[in-house]
Amino acid sequence: MKETPKGSPFTQPPDRVSSSFMDRMLASVQDMAHLIGAPGRNRPRSILPEVLGMWEKVNRIYDEYLKYETGRLRKRGFNISCTPGCSWCCRNMPTGVMHLEVVAAHQHLTRAGMLNKAIKRALDAAELWNRVIRNTGDEEAALTQFARESHCPFLDHKRGLCAIYPVRPLVCRSHFATTPAHWCDPESESFKGAVKISLEPVRQVQDQLSTIEERLGPGLPRSIAEAFLVFTLKGELRGE
Ligand code: SF4
Ligand code: SF4
Repeated sequence: MKETPKGSPFTQPPDRVSSSFMDRMLASVQDMAHLIGAPGRNRPRSILPEVLGMWEKVNRIYDEYLKYETGRLRKRGFNISCTPGCSWCCRNMPTGVMHLEVVAAHQHLTRAGMLNKAIKRALDAAELWNRVIRNTGDEEAALTQFARESHCPFLDHKRGLCAIYPVRPLVCRSHFATTPAHWCDPESESFKGAVKISLEPVRQVQDQLSTIEERLGPGLPRSIAEAFLVFTLKGELRGE
């Protein structure tokens, strides 16, 4: 018989193993910050592949951490409802993405021969996003409205798959639900009761990521569609 969940899924104190994942993640982002160097420093374009390789490693460590933490939740009786092809959450417009994530997405789509299609979808999504932000006036309401009318520009809507899955942003990677999957449907009566969790890395890792962002700035627009378009048009990072 399935165990009854104990406590809240939102408050799971770290144990020795999860702390060691975060230590490894912190060491890797510190290495990245060091390689990228101080703000204003001239960075040769040639370091980009190395930085992206390090970012891939950071994501791998995060994925192991997520797997471990969701495993702990399962042992406590929680169901993790996410499965391949389930994509109600991808009806949202991801916001707060980082430079490296946009660069990695751009590179991934270019290699897959999907760049032009992605640009067109991002243009459509950015237009809708700007309209709903204007109409609603706040991001929270805009996200709900956007999800009712469209979906993330990188979602293959027919198959429910992410076109940039291996390099998807941390904001997507960290997201899972412990309530039935269909509760994540913005049209579902149970939508407001859905338990959706964002398992963020520890504060020290987030601080290092902010430092890296500042060094690679200028700040990107909040929505992934606009951030992707800005990078695609300008095609550069600060100091390149
Ligand atoms: S968060 Fe919800 S919609 Fe997204 S994959 Fe998990 S169950 Fe499916
Ligand atoms: S980037 Fe991928 S995982 Fe994230 S919302 Fe878009 S389709 Fe979903």
